[in-house]
Amino acid sequence: MAQEKSMAVSEFLSKAELIKQGAEARVYRAEFLGKPTIVKERFTKRYRHPTLDEKLTHRRTVQEVRSILRCRRAGISAPVVYFVDYTSHCIFLEEIVGSSTVRDHIASVQQSDSCKEPELEQLAERVGQILAKMHDDDVIHGDLTTSNMLLRRGGESDLVLIDFGLSYISALPEDKGVDLYVLEKAFLSTHPNTEALFEKLLKSYTASSKRSPAVIKKLDEIRLRGRKRSMVG
Ligand code: AMP
Repeated sequence: MAQEKSMAVSEFLSKAELIKQGAEARVYRAEFLGKPTIVKERFTKRYRHPTLDEKLTHRRTVQEVRSILRCRRAGISAPVVYFVDYTSHCIFLEEIVGSSTVRDHIASVQQSDSCKEPELEQLAERVGQILAKMHDDDVIHGDLTTSNMLLRRGGESDLVLIDFGLSYISALPEDKGVDLYVLEKAFLSTHPNTEALFEKLLKSYTASSKRSPAVIKKLDEIRLRGRKRSMVG
């Protein structure tokens, strides 16, 4: 029965448009029950022991779905989960149609001559607020980058978090600090000369989260450790 269902999923995917081939998963665009859909399919890693591989892949799929649902319950925008097939490790998600990544948006604003700095500052503040809300709900994203944030166009532009494949639930300030540190590294290396913009993001995070002092303290410690390590290296 499970195998039959998986066959149906692979037949469905054979007609879908592959949009990304990653190291852990393939991402497809398709139409599912008449709705524009993104399908994330985690595949087998042949170098891993099959039992361990199955366990890890299953856990990542469960974690991704759980974190998306938890975020949505807390009022944080993340795609709607339409369907999950745990046999083929596929998650069917709402496609955020016509969206662009925050990464592409920042890059295009930086390239344009127009004075759109205040718009970027507003965006950084919004990101800070959303991450504070996510951390207050104990969701650790695990792979925060500006590519994993989409800007939904429409009446009111909205920020949607995606790719919760490495996410988990934790109340520890250390885990939240690491989440912010990962974003800081990704942010500053992707977007040159944005130190002040990232500081705005952190300031807004600090103002929005009830538990930010302990997290920011941990972030500072992690930064210091990082600096010491790079001096030794
Ligand atoms: P991911 O591996 O989940 O980061 O997805 C890879 C790429 O697919 C992203 O960078 C987005 O451009 C696109 N993508 C993923 N999920 C969605 C979604 N729900 N709606 C629209 N585009 C998406």
